Amino acid sequence: MSTPDCLFCRIVAGEIPATVVRETPTTLAFRDIDPKAPVHVLVVTKEHYADVATLGQGDPALAGELLATAAAVAGDEGLLGDGFRLMFNTGGYGGQEVFHVHAHLLGGAPLGPMLARSMA
Ligand code: 5GP
Ligand code: ZN
Repeated sequence: MSTPDCLFCRIVAGEIPATVVRETPTTLAFRDIDPKAPVHVLVVTKEHYADVATLGQGDPALAGELLATAAAVAGDEGLLGDGFRLMFNTGGYGGQEVFHVHAHLLGGAPLGPMLARSMA
């Protein structure tokens, strides 16, 4: 189900332009508007789920399709040899800003430590 006020639902609907790099019947991958790495692609489900927890519990098969699309884009972008990072920001502490599930696929250069701060 599409949520009219949701930015990524509007991109899926074609109402807001995006640079799409891969589309499947259930998923869409497009370039982040403010890239944090040489390759920064967002992979979303076409159906609206607020976050990866909701998706993973509500439709695990669809979560797998999202991962398959992310892996295919990683291959298309030449990231499989040197590696990449796949990230789901979730909720307030996770720094999520758009509440439509999306994986950040990041690569093309060394990405540094997993987090800006360590616990030490
Ligand atoms: P979050 O912080 O929710 O994990 O990530 C949201 C991401 O969406 C950010 O990296 C941001 O740059 C990206 N973004 C925000 N608005 C747009 C937009 O209109 N188009 C595209 N392609 N990306 C967007
Ligand atoms: Zn949505």
